[in-house]
Amino acid sequence: AKEAGRSTWRCFEPSMQKQVEKRFELEGELRKALEAEQFVLYLQPKTNRDGHVYGTESLVRWQHPEKGLIPPDAFIPLAEDTGLILPLGEWVLKETLKLMPTHPQLCFAVNISPRQFRNPDFVNRVKTLLEETGADPNKLTLEVTEGLLITDFKQSSKRMAALQQLGISFSIDDFGTGYSSLSYLKKLPINELKIDRSFIKDLPEDTSDALLVETMMAVAQHLDLAVVAEGVETQAQRDFLYSLDCNLHQGYFYGKPEPAAQLLARLKD
Ligand code: C2E
Ligand code: CA
Ligand code: CA
Ligand code: CA
Repeated sequence: AKEAGRSTWRCFEPSMQKQVEKRFELEGELRKALEAEQFVLYLQPKTNRDGHVYGTESLVRWQHPEKGLIPPDAFIPLAEDTGLILPLGEWVLKETLKLMPTHPQLCFAVNISPRQFRNPDFVNRVKTLLEETGADPNKLTLEVTEGLLITDFKQSSKRMAALQQLGISFSIDDFGTGYSSLSYLKKLPINELKIDRSFIKDLPEDTSDALLVETMMAVAQHLDLAVVAEGVETQAQRDFLYSLDCNLHQGYFYGKPEPAAQLLARLKD
């Protein structure tokens, strides 16, 4: 066993070192990317039962000079670990708020990472950005994850209440994948649940997923929360969700994320 352990170690060591180096390199590049403004704001439409686009979600991409367009899963976790999510998250929020005054009919949703939300300065930063841009807070939704709210319940609810006072709405992102304690849902100023794509993916065939979605709808109705289904890709999924009275959808069936200006131009005509 000892031998095996040792050889395993030898075998892993170079690759682990490589991983650390790669991470370090990526961190440096991420810092440069912030200065050089290599980030691009993408928007994905959210559709209501009339098939009308009532809002969008902001999703960031990194336009890397050599590697091309990098998806957020490849750099958001590192940004979160290193604290670079603070300037990056601020950039996404600001770019989104800047679009709002010229599209007053649309709702805009922005993802807020745990570290960003926990920053003591967050509420003030949002206030300042609202003032600077003239964006209507009643059209702004912040998407946060369940874990964040539970680990820091008191602080989170205070902060959410302060932001809600300004007119801002809150959505629980990736709903169903986290701790899902129903008692906290009741205690927090939440307006919306976003059902994670993993529950939508195998609908309508997967009966246990169907039951879960039905249950989430019942919970939402009981708590008077709106529900958005994420990752709707097919007509069969759409129709099944409609049958559960789940009417707000986001997914490739309606539109993939695309550069903000491109989607907004299309929505205008
Ligand atoms: P998320 O907030 O759950 O965003 C939804 C993700 O699902 C997006 O991936 C979107 O492109 C993808 N998606 C939407 N509809 C479909 C569909 O029908 N099929 C499939 N296969 N995928 C669909 P994306 O843009 O790659 O973003 C991944 C994650 O990165 C986001 O998940 C979010 O957690 C994070 N992220 C993106 N932008 C930001 C940001 O500005 N700030 C923070 N903190 N996180 C962000
Ligand atoms: Ca989201
Ligand atoms: Ca989500
Ligand atoms: Ca998700």
